[in-house]
Order: sequence, then structure tokens, then C-alpha cells
Amino acid sequence: MSIKVDIVTPEKMLYSGDVEMVTLPGTNGQMGILHGHAPLLSTLDIGEIVLHSREGNEYLAVSGGVVEVRPDKVTILADTAEAGAEIDEQRASAALERAERLLAENPPPHRVPEIMASLRRSSLRLKVARRHQGRRSAEGLHFEGGSNT
Ligand code: ATP
Repeated sequence: MSIKVDIVTPEKMLYSGDVEMVTLPGTNGQMGILHGHAPLLSTLDIGEIVLHSREGNEYLAVSGGVVEVRPDKVTILADTAEAGAEIDEQRASAALERAERLLAENPPPHRVPEIMASLRRSSLRLKVARRHQGRRSAEGLHFEGGSNT
């Protein structure tokens, strides 16, 4: 049985549809949600959302927000989120390089969390963009043979 998923960002309705399962990065750990899941409310970490359906998997990057789970519906209010297809890899690579450079320059301690978050967002975006490109060859699998970075 499928479950309805809505993913909303401050800018747009990013996704609305029915899936077999959705996995998402709760701040207390990765969650896998199927139809009939107990109701819950959780904050979201920086991480990957995977929409599992018969047609294959859709990969999205999310950076913070909240999720409300009801037995027949998952509503994700994301701080930022991008579908794999819309991720600009050059931009993410540039952001990753910038964050790595800033970290290597011994920043003041109060700036480290912000730089680390930028590093995590950009490396996540690169991972999700690559998963999106590789999904046809990985159809139906929840993992890929290559690196998992
Ligand atoms: P950058 O340093 O490249 O601006 P950022 O991590 O500071 O990245 P955010 O503040 O997380 O950017 O996001 C700002 C907006 O830009 C959001 O709408 C987000 O979805 C979008 N965005 C950020 N990076 C990318 C990317 N590589 N591809 C597509 N959209 C992106």
C-alpha cells in the first residue's frame, strides 16, 4: 500500500505524490516510513530523502526542516531541498571547495559549525546529483556498488 508524500520548501511545492516508502534524515537518525506508520513529528538533519516507488527511486537533498508523519501521509517542510535533477554540481563543488579552504585556514571556533554545515550541504548535493544520474543502472537497489561518500 502506498503513502502520500508532500515536500514543501519556502520557495515551492517540490514534490507531491504517492510512494511505496520514503526514507529521510531525522535528527535522531535515518527513518524509513511506510503506509500505517505511527504519527510523529521530527526535525530534519542535512541528508538524503529517497522516494521508493515501483518506477524506481527518486533522490533528493534536504538541509533541515520538519517532518510530520501520519499513517497515510508524510509532510516535509524543508529549510532547503533539491531534487537530484535540479542540483547544480558546479555550484556544489565550488561551495565544497570554499568550505574546505575556510576550514584549512584555521577559522575562529565560532565559525566552524557554519563552515561544517556548508561542507555537509555541498557534499550531500554532490552525492545526490550523482545518485540521480546513476539511478537507471541502480534501478530497484537501495545501494550502489561504487563509493558511498
Ligand atoms: P551556496 O554556497 O552554493 O550558495 P548554500 O549551501 O549556501 O550554497 P543554501 O543557503 O543551502 O545554499 O540554499 C540557498 C538556495 O539555493 C536554496 O533554495 C537551495 O535549494 C539552492 N541551492 C543551493 N545549492 C544548490 C545547488 N548546488 N544546486 C541547486 N540549488 C542549490
